[in-house]
Amino acid sequence: MMKFCAECGGALEEREVQGDGRRRHVCTVCAHVHYRNPLVVVGCLVERDDSILLCRRAIEPAHGRWTTPAGFLELGETMPAGARRETFEEASADVDIMAPHSYLELLHIGQVYAIFRARMRAPDFAPGPESLECRFFRAHDIPWSELAFPAVHFALQLLLDDRRGGCRHVHHAQVRWSGVGSRFDASNYELVGHLRSPLA
Ligand SMILES: [Zn+2]
Repeated sequence: MMKFCAECGGALEEREVQGDGRRRHVCTVCAHVHYRNPLVVVGCLVERDDSILLCRRAIEPAHGRWTTPAGFLELGETMPAGARRETFEEASADVDIMAPHSYLELLHIGQVYAIFRARMRAPDFAPGPESLECRFFRAHDIPWSELAFPAVHFALQLLLDDRRGGCRHVHHAQVRWSGVGSRFDASNYELVGHLRSPLA
């Protein structure tokens, strides 16, 4: 939580801003309003034959657990470019972005995941500095109980559902935490307001 003004270093207080209806962090010295908005996480579901690339995290949070390559979008970067960059950083894998896959909203942590389907440009991959190991998993080998993030769990499920159904979709949904239990355990979450549109 911010305590000091990024403009002048003055102390911040939380109060309602006129005509806004929300509580904001406002500088007690220069009156600058510090807005806080959701962050965008971009990532790739990298498919090779019927397998999917996962990385085992070498960093917190969720050290030692598996995830698709993903991370925060940078300023000045498109979402597909960010997803490619994260895949290169975490798995040293050079990929082509094929299609959008899912937009997943996590209101309790203020994050929106934008996940893309991707394919390897070259066969090589290796763990980057943020990964302990990288591996392609077939559907029945996915380590569901060792996944790092609920959004990844649901993105993988949607991908496998589409494969089984023989039709690819773009998905949008809220990944809603029940409010109790571990925030890292997907069983404490549900998919709400799932919209999907078939890809031509
Ligand atoms: Zn200030």
